[in-house]
Amino acid sequence: MRDSTERGEAAGRAAQAAPWHALPAEEALRRLGASPAGLEGAEAARRLAEHGPNRLPAAQPRGPLRRLAEQFNNLLIHVLLASALITAALGHWLDAAVILAVVVLNAIVGFIQEGRAEQALDAIRGMLTPHASVLRDGRRRTVEATELVPGDLVLLAAGDKVPADLRLLRARGLRVEEAALTGESVPVEKSVEPVAAGAPLGDRACLAFSGTLVATGQAEGVVVATGAATELGRISAMLGAVEPLTTPLLRQMNIFARRLTLVILALSAAVFAFAWLVRGYAAEEAFMAVVGIAVAAIPEGLPAVLTITMAIGVRRMAARNAILRRLPAVETLGAVSVICTDKTGTLTRNEMAVAAAVTAAGSFEVSGAGYAPHGAVAPAAGGEASPEARAALAGFACAAALCNDAALREDPDSGWAVEGDPMEGALLAFAARAGEEPEALRRRFPRLDAIPFDARHRYMATLHPDGDGAAFAVVKGAPERLLALCACAHGGDAALDLPAWQARVEALAAQGQRVLAIATRRMPAGARALAPGDVEAGGLELLGLVGLIDPPREEAIAAVADCQAAGIRVKMITGDHAATAGAIARQVGLQGGGAVVTGQEIEALDEAALRDRARETDVFARASPEHKLRLVEALQAEGAVVAMTGDGVNDAPALKRAEVGVAMGRKGTEAAKEAAEMVLADDNFATIAAAVHEGRTVYDNVQKVIAWTLPTNGGEALTIIAAILLGVTLPLTPVQILWINMVTAVALGLTLAFEPAEPDVMRRPPRDPREPLLSGFLLWRVILVSTLFMLGAFGIFALVEARGGTLETARTAVVNTIVVLEIAYLFSVRYQRMTSLTWRGALGTRPVLIGVGTVVLLQLAFTYAPPLQMLFASRPLDPIADGLPILAAGAALLGLLEIEKHLRRRLVAGPGRG
Ligand code: ATP
Repeated sequence: MRDSTERGEAAGRAAQAAPWHALPAEEALRRLGASPAGLEGAEAARRLAEHGPNRLPAAQPRGPLRRLAEQFNNLLIHVLLASALITAALGHWLDAAVILAVVVLNAIVGFIQEGRAEQALDAIRGMLTPHASVLRDGRRRTVEATELVPGDLVLLAAGDKVPADLRLLRARGLRVEEAALTGESVPVEKSVEPVAAGAPLGDRACLAFSGTLVATGQAEGVVVATGAATELGRISAMLGAVEPLTTPLLRQMNIFARRLTLVILALSAAVFAFAWLVRGYAAEEAFMAVVGIAVAAIPEGLPAVLTITMAIGVRRMAARNAILRRLPAVETLGAVSVICTDKTGTLTRNEMAVAAAVTAAGSFEVSGAGYAPHGAVAPAAGGEASPEARAALAGFACAAALCNDAALREDPDSGWAVEGDPMEGALLAFAARAGEEPEALRRRFPRLDAIPFDARHRYMATLHPDGDGAAFAVVKGAPERLLALCACAHGGDAALDLPAWQARVEALAAQGQRVLAIATRRMPAGARALAPGDVEAGGLELLGLVGLIDPPREEAIAAVADCQAAGIRVKMITGDHAATAGAIARQVGLQGGGAVVTGQEIEALDEAALRDRARETDVFARASPEHKLRLVEALQAEGAVVAMTGDGVNDAPALKRAEVGVAMGRKGTEAAKEAAEMVLADDNFATIAAAVHEGRTVYDNVQKVIAWTLPTNGGEALTIIAAILLGVTLPLTPVQILWINMVTAVALGLTLAFEPAEPDVMRRPPRDPREPLLSGFLLWRVILVSTLFMLGAFGIFALVEARGGTLETARTAVVNTIVVLEIAYLFSVRYQRMTSLTWRGALGTRPVLIGVGTVVLLQLAFTYAPPLQMLFASRPLDPIADGLPILAAGAALLGLLEIEKHLRRRLVAGPGRG
């Protein structure tokens, strides 16, 4: 007796110690105190309190000190710091202090703004919380993955990201891609049988690990570990590390800024040698002048301002429901020239409703509000339905409810809603309206097995027991697919009248309705499993067709028009029927004359022919994910920059291939989201257009920041260089140059990061992706504006001296002139193609006004405040005699640049074209 107790305890201890993958499924359930109906809500809450949320510990964010230190870690700043050091060593304390002030001010602004940008990016990542399907209280529910607890029953389907470590209880064709864990990119097959206790991670076939992706199949498993206790948590406590804010453009600009700094250093050395050796300056004096040149010319604020510009763009996109997963997309979006979009849910509302039902015995019209089970099903021809027609309708509705994974739920506030696929929800509402109660039917004919829907084979099938011990299968799917498999219509022995049924399909589809066929087949007694062969062998009995309406989104219609005005081609690539796709395409206003190319036709085309078709056609129907991939490649071969939407696990390759892969936030699988650059929080086409709008704005602002910074820096430097070369008095001292830089670099340059979109941003063609950022135009602007700055400076200098002003007064006037020119140029640069001389242009934005206001106050202090006069050798100016010419110089610059813009517009438009 004692013996057997001990043995029992030992066995218990062994089982307790055995790892999950070595335990039979029932034993795992028992050990977790779980039941096949799932946990109860209260128990789940208790366990959540005990185990904590199911998330990996966040990576240590960079500390504030480290972030501040990083602001100083770049060549531009190093050069400035070195100049400050040498300047101080030479005893020029004021100059050294001002250089340091420029550096510190710049670092502080960079620190604050980048900190805000990082916070915003973190918040945006937080918007992508994954969800999981669980059984709780015996019902299927969708919860946030963070709420999972050990013992929860989780349902997995293709495309899901496994939300926690699971011991599988049921698995059907389950293959999981475990690259995140094992590095193995080929999906591994999973089953429910226990494996040896010592099996390595990759061989634990009865476990599904958190963070891996379901490639195919369906499964149910019990959660054995969450959060940091999962295998993923164990191997990496660092996951979700903060991604640095960088994009190819930013990298390119950083490289450019570094090169520019080297060029400036070389130039400064040359000027130094010239001033000292040729012009006979004292070495120290020459050196200080050259420090002025270097500090003036180095665009020290540029890298930080560009980063901030990008971050603001990302934040604006998130506010419009477009969540960027990879930052480079912020700039690629602005160059998109073709958007390939799904139809269902993206262009349409995905609020499905059955409008028509067609059986062999009669056609019906279906009405009712939303997904409510109440409504009417009346004969399409009017009058009363015959008893045969009624019976056929009942059988049809019953099948529609059985071959169905959705559930309808009534919410006291929002009314009836679908849990699952809206199309299946609409079928449930239809069944209820036809008098069949879905829940009762599901109890009466429980599901024995199922073949899940897959976009490649376009049907779904379920197996149910019949009352008499036999079984039957119900199949629903795309009509062409199913009609070809049907031998006859239900209730008739005659062979199926295929042309007549095809005509019915066409008639429904031509109205933009999505058509679905439903069929059945008797299965041998005792059948317990369903294989694709059972369906695809043919011999089905057709029960009927349903036509579902799914109206286009109003905002999508407007967004399609916006995109077309912006020179972006919108193409619909849908799994739906050609006629349905064509009808919806016309409703949303796609171009291409309503021509539709089907997946079958795509298959018959070679690469060259496909490229032609891809270019000309805007509607692709019955297309599978492989076709999407081929279409992206064809469009890219034609030089297009493609944004492509997708939601299924098989869409991942096309999303990865497109320049901007766009996944659906709501109905998209985790696999699609992982592959995408951008996720739409609202699944809405209009959001893509909004993101492109923001992407273009960001690119414009980047250009504006550069177009403002380089010539203003260039102008200051050129003024000193010219004076040295010509051997004339410096029109401003090095320390005054430093003052200008300190005042304007942040207060004026940064405001351009906040610029709103120009009115024409969606009325011009996409930018050529090959066009370099530092274009010929920019070079021309740098030369033109730098020269105008120099002329302005020397002009005012001469003017004040001619009026008998002292050297100090003339230099004070020059400092003010350069600042006024910078302000004038800021207003000019705000509109790149359009005139700046409008009310909108004059009023500026809040950041612009704050920036200009600050600069004006500082300049007044510079000119009139005695302490600053002492430091910078400035003198008070006559507001009229000196002030007016200075303001006139600003106005003249603005005017000249307006003329330049006008001429350039004429030039670009070309004679006879504009
Ligand atoms: P889009 O690609 O624009 O989202 P879609 O939703 O029609 O279009 P798929 O989901 O690939 O594309 O569906 C293709 C076809 O498969 C549908 O037109 C329909 O006939 C059929 N189908 C879709 N869902 C189911 C389902 N749950 N059960 C059976 N058949 C389905």
